Amino acid sequence: MDVDITPRARKVLVFVNPFSGPGKALDIYQKRVVPTLAELDLNFHLIITERAGHAKDVVKTIDISEWYGVIIVSGDGLIFEVINGLMSRPDWEHAIHHLPLGVVPGGSGNALCCAINSHNGEPYKDNILTHSLFVLAKHKIKALDLVAVDTCEGRHYSFLSITWGIISDVDIESEKYRSLGNARFTVGALVRIVGLRTYHGRLSFLPCEPYRCHTSRSTSCSTWEPSVNANTADVVTSQPKSRSLSCPDGLGDSATEEVLRSRLQHGGPADEPLTPVFPEEGGGDLETVIANSSTPAADSTQLTCDSPSRGDAATPRPVETALLPPLSDPVPASWVTIEDNFVTVVAAYESHLGPDIIIAPEATFNDGIIHLMFAKAGISRSSLLKLFLSMENGSHVNSPDIEIIKVKAFRLEPITPGGVIAIDGEKVKYGPIQAQVLPGLARFMA
Ligand code: ADP
Ligand code: MG
Repeated sequence: MDVDITPRARKVLVFVNPFSGPGKALDIYQKRVVPTLAELDLNFHLIITERAGHAKDVVKTIDISEWYGVIIVSGDGLIFEVINGLMSRPDWEHAIHHLPLGVVPGGSGNALCCAINSHNGEPYKDNILTHSLFVLAKHKIKALDLVAVDTCEGRHYSFLSITWGIISDVDIESEKYRSLGNARFTVGALVRIVGLRTYHGRLSFLPCEPYRCHTSRSTSCSTWEPSVNANTADVVTSQPKSRSLSCPDGLGDSATEEVLRSRLQHGGPADEPLTPVFPEEGGGDLETVIANSSTPAADSTQLTCDSPSRGDAATPRPVETALLPPLSDPVPASWVTIEDNFVTVVAAYESHLGPDIIIAPEATFNDGIIHLMFAKAGISRSSLLKLFLSMENGSHVNSPDIEIIKVKAFRLEPITPGGVIAIDGEKVKYGPIQAQVLPGLARFMA
């Protein structure tokens, strides 16, 4: 969805985080952003962020009508801040629609920039900056899915990902290698694969398309089909998908339904069981993990929020999220629930998590889909390393070690204590978390 805007009428607000990534954001701003904006004859106002939360506080109170957009010279963390600042305004709906975000890669994690460049057929590994500036110059505004996320500390709005297990461990633990730039993730991944942990938890979700459980190993798992109550749908039928439950923007179209129905009737990829390699009970050498030595002991009860309501709002909950019950209530009976030991659970809504991770190759900015994926315990260290390496070109989606489901909403309830959950690469309070996609809510310069 493109939106016409006459940019020259107003000015842009530029945030620069001098501490993002290898600390070059200010240099990038002075040497590259200023000349670009000057060439475009755009007025701009610079704010160098002084602390975490500074940009969020600023966009909470600005007069939206004064600005053409916001340009963020940092990593994904500052984009997250700005989105949450806009969403906490009383006029959030107007603000998030009328203040497009422009992104210039200055951080160590520049996933949105990578996705934008990649979707334009431009380089996203090297020389990413030049094309990001070119994107700003084009004045093309597009819609961006956001995801409403309830955590124990309240509501957040996310544009990129929710991660648990090895992916979030690597993201957060590698902060100490920030000076390495993007290489921090590679170093962090190697460290974490050696000291592999597994996490027990419950994952529930509302699929966009018929879902059949792939492994009998899960403690619980149910089949889901759009027009049949999941509780009674032991046998998946080929009834047409109900409109209200089909995926937006192309996934609910009749051609896709036809493919799905045909797969259900005649077998094929959607039906093929995955065959993860599990070690023999009670054993396994170094290469056949479940590395219990590095794994906190699993408790039989799940973690709950200290205050089991929706918690104090990190950002107020302005948006009605009809698919999400209160975090303290059970998920709807029609959702699929899997309880298992996981190595990682990732929910992604952009194609890239960085220049070396094409996490969801099919994802587009406004597809209204959460690409939910998980790898279960039992995967060997060498397979996990292969899985990480195959993420570089997105071919992990074909791996039997990972399962990927398109969903509209999900809930993750960790049972193993002491892990890390990150939203858009930012660590949040560890505990139950649930999310629902808000198709095309935000605007960005694409
Ligand atoms: P990176 O990709 O390097 O992590 P981010 O844009 O994600 O860069 O920023 C990392 C964190 O820095 C964010 O959580 C943001 O809130 C915070 N931040 C912003 N400005 C400052 C500052 N002046 N000092 C310290 N932290 C800051
Ligand atoms: Mg970050």
